[in-house]
Amino acid sequence: MVHAHLERTERHGRCRKQPYARELKPTPGVHRFKLECSGWQSTSSWVRDVTPSEAAAVVRAFVDAALPGQAAPSSPDTVTG
Ligand SMILES: [Zn+2]
Repeated sequence: MVHAHLERTERHGRCRKQPYARELKPTPGVHRFKLECSGWQSTSSWVRDVTPSEAAAVVRAFVDAALPGQAAPSSPDTVTG
């Protein structure tokens, strides 16, 4: 689930290609993912650490989206005035 989130959100530089994410060996206190993008000429890889709170937010967003009939609280994006 967090893999998919990272694949959607992470990019290397201005590359528009979706990278491939896989979790490295479990690290205490953090989820460590390696992201790889096989570009036109070279393969780029980098490491992205996801904190437990960040992972929980991803899971919560997924659950919220999956549960019908749940009234979402007012979005912080919506600013009146
Ligand atoms: Zn790329």
